This record gives sequence, C-alpha cells and structure tokens, in this order.
Amino acid sequence: MRKNTGFAPLETRLYKFKKPAMKFFCPLCRTERAFTIRPSLNAKHHIQIALISLCLMGLTHSFMGWRAFFWFFFVWSAFELAVRILFKREIPCPHCGFDASWYKRDVVKARSKVEEFWQRTNGQEPDITNKLSSSVSGDEILNSDLSA
Ligand SMILES: [Zn+2]
Repeated sequence: MRKNTGFAPLETRLYKFKKPAMKFFCPLCRTERAFTIRPSLNAKHHIQIALISLCLMGLTHSFMGWRAFFWFFFVWSAFELAVRILFKREIPCPHCGFDASWYKRDVVKARSKVEEFWQRTNGQEPDITNKLSSSVSGDEILNSDLSA
C-alpha cells in the first residue's frame, strides 16, 4: 500500500520560468526546475566577444601593434568563465538544496550540503563538523535511503 506523503509525485509550482534553457524535475524534492542559462556560449555571446575584442584592439593597437589581437583570447576566456559561474550558481535546488554537480563528484558531500541547506532554512547555524570525516561511503548512504 502506498503511503500518502502529502504532495504529488512530480510537483509543478505556480512560478513560470521565462525562456528556460532546460526544464527538469529535481530528483530529491520532485519540484519542476529550469536553467535560464546554458553552460556553453551561444551566438549572441560570440557577437559580444567579437565586438568587445574589436573595440579593445582598436583602442590599444597604436601602442600594442599586432599583439592587440590577443585581446580576443582574454575576452573569450572571460566569457567562458562567466557563463560557467552563472550556470553553476543555478545548479543547487532552491527548494531542497540538492546539488547535482556535487552528487556526481561526492555523494557524502552532496548529502551534507542538503543538511546544511535545511539547517539554514530552519534558522540554525550550519553544523560544519558534519559526517565528512566519518567512513560512511556514498553507496551505504544510497542503500540506506532506498530501504527507508
Ligand atoms: Zn529540490
């Protein structure tokens, strides 16, 4: 018999995402989520990179000569970095604190991040001395979650 947990299997909140790059459901709290940015540069970014590099090349060509061309690579790497930082900021779920990127790297760390999120949400100071130092592996936590 199925237990009544109080909410639908996949929950759609009233908030509507404006032009989402990707829509998905959070694997932990089952709320519909969306990324507003892609982790890679799009055509608009490439045009911006070209225009900014051309301006910088034009301004510095008089004293830098042909080396002003290297502005392009600085601007390009700055855009790549900015897009990745903005994308990473959107990964943690605002409803439950689940971070898929941490879950892929280290399940124990991802679990402690969710615990910190709920401690912060409940108005407590996050317990820094979490179970990171314990010898519990990610597989044990997964199995305990499945059996609960
Ligand atoms: Zn969530």
